[in-house]
Amino acid sequence: MNRVLVVNSGSSSLKYAVVDADSGSTVADGIVERIGETKDGGVPDHAAALQAAFDALDDDMAGLVAVGHRVVHGGPDLYEPTLVDDALIGKIDELSPLAPLHNPPALLGIEVARRALPDLPHIAVFDTAFFHDLPPAAATYAIDRDIAAQWGIRRYGFHGTSHQYVSEQAAEFLGAPLDSLRQIVLHLGNGASASAIVGGRPVETSMGLTPMEGLVMGTRSGDLDPGIYAYLWRTANMSVDDIESMLNRRSGMLGLGGHIDFRVVHRQIESGDAAAQLAYDVYIHRLRKYIGAYLAVLGSADVITFTAGVGENDAAVRRDAVSGMTALGIELDEQRNTDPSKVARRISTDDSATTVLVIPTDEELAIARACVSVLTNRS
Ligand code: ADP
Repeated sequence: MNRVLVVNSGSSSLKYAVVDADSGSTVADGIVERIGETKDGGVPDHAAALQAAFDALDDDMAGLVAVGHRVVHGGPDLYEPTLVDDALIGKIDELSPLAPLHNPPALLGIEVARRALPDLPHIAVFDTAFFHDLPPAAATYAIDRDIAAQWGIRRYGFHGTSHQYVSEQAAEFLGAPLDSLRQIVLHLGNGASASAIVGGRPVETSMGLTPMEGLVMGTRSGDLDPGIYAYLWRTANMSVDDIESMLNRRSGMLGLGGHIDFRVVHRQIESGDAAAQLAYDVYIHRLRKYIGAYLAVLGSADVITFTAGVGENDAAVRRDAVSGMTALGIELDEQRNTDPSKVARRISTDDSATTVLVIPTDEELAIARACVSVLTNRS
């Protein structure tokens, strides 16, 4: 049995799961929230958060073969799942300026987990990895090339573990070889990203240097005119940190409508809330723009797959994202789309030239399997 503890350590929360990489089943999982809050329900630091996870897992901790850590940014050089040692920690730390909101908390998670479980191999799996070989035309920003080279500015892409896992599952669901398919994957969770994939290799993705680019998200703006930074800095007297924080934490659905949970957004719209309606319209408009762009990048798509919290559960978002695209070869079956099933399923009509699927993502399982492959190659 290959049981792996998967840790996803953010600045204020720590998600964990024990996954049986062989059967694919989740043995136990949970989340410790409000790290750094000492009031009721909070935990003081990442070490205490991990201890709370251990307490909750209890007997499920038995028989672990590895600890897998999700690391958001691997920069230009880190893309294979890699055994954690002091040198790797140094390299991830060096990447912190590229991902100041994400890599430092991931490192904290790795450090406390290594201390708590020193006899187990710890393996880092990078969220940028899948997009490492993005074609130069898609990965390159049209800015001064010397500055870009000096500072490592390129489009890295994120949610790679999910895009890879879901695109493989889509091929399996269709019973088609992965290398025969042109796919669009729409990962719509609190963070949201799209990818275009040809034969299992990504050719486009919506996130860039950081996870801020692209689709409208729960709290992030996605695409915007970079002139907004300079304008707010110069004219509104906001610091760079203020602007970054606003764009990351108080923008997107939250910034526009006041809520990140789409179940609430729909209720607000039903009660006549104009701000919620606009937030939803902006979200859908951006999503449709990306689908259209990716269809053009691919020429046409064999399959479009919705995944993550919103993509898996919100039939209205799926309908509105692709409505009126019959001429582009995309036609949803309303009954299939509104079926509240939790398993991989087809939601397009039998006549739709492009098959539309809903496939639950499982980043924890993908990370656990990556860990097992590292262990297998090592032995
Ligand atoms: P994360 O990026 O944090 O992993 P998830 O993929 O779990 O996020 O997605 C969380 C989001 O999914 C919630 O904020 C909510 O908007 C949405 N969501 C979850 N369940 C439903 C549902 N039944 N209907 C509509 N939206 C849902």
